[in-house]
Amino acid sequence: MPSHDYRVYAVRYGHRDHVPAHEAFHQEHAAPEGGMDYFVWAVTDGQNTVVVDTGFGEDEGTRRGRTWLRSPDLGLAELGIDASQVEHVVLTHFHYDHIGGQALFPRATFHVQEEEMRFYTGRNATRPAFRGSIYLPDILSIVAANYEGRVKFHDGDAQIVPGVRVHKVAGHTAGMQCVSVETTRGTAVLTSDASHYYANIDEGNSFNTFVDMAGVYRGYDRIKELASSPDLILPGHDPLVMQRLKAAGPDIVELE
Ligand SMILES: [Zn+2]
Repeated sequence: MPSHDYRVYAVRYGHRDHVPAHEAFHQEHAAPEGGMDYFVWAVTDGQNTVVVDTGFGEDEGTRRGRTWLRSPDLGLAELGIDASQVEHVVLTHFHYDHIGGQALFPRATFHVQEEEMRFYTGRNATRPAFRGSIYLPDILSIVAANYEGRVKFHDGDAQIVPGVRVHKVAGHTAGMQCVSVETTRGTAVLTSDASHYYANIDEGNSFNTFVDMAGVYRGYDRIKELASSPDLILPGHDPLVMQRLKAAGPDIVELE
């Protein structure tokens, strides 16, 4: 039995009204209902707190036509979490909607997979299929954070704090990582973009952005192994998260 009792929160900070079916699913599928939500996640047991991802910056998000609901730190504040004091932030991958809010966490160590840094500072960075999901100032910022000694590199699985771990699953990006959290109900998994929607992992139908489709499938397998039950798998962008989890504040839901 898990020996930790973390609470898991999804804090919604952005939205996109419509996502075409061919973007959300590689195989034929209906367009996702409700478009796409953008979250940062917080896990806390009252003693240890880990924030998962930092959201997009308002300028870059709105430039891409996304609706900016609020700065993610304001959502975290509703939970009593002061972003300026958070010590551990997992950056699941380097896409613009996950690492744009680094400046909100000036004291944090950023936990990243070494492969993700290698990829986005290496030869493939400007390939059209990969470049479009990146906002260059975010990459420069994480490089600067590294030179400040604020990046903790991982290669595979690692413990962030007792009861909270990262797991490299790759597939969507070269160094994509998900997060497992021990709760009173067992191990929950924050998939981030290893599965944008419940339907991606449930139906084996990948989101249409990836570096390695076989890796996406291996990621689905790994996530299912890690989670104690299917309803403890929490996808990264699905508006259904707001319905399936329990309301815990303004645009905030909590895993029951
Ligand atoms: Zn994303």
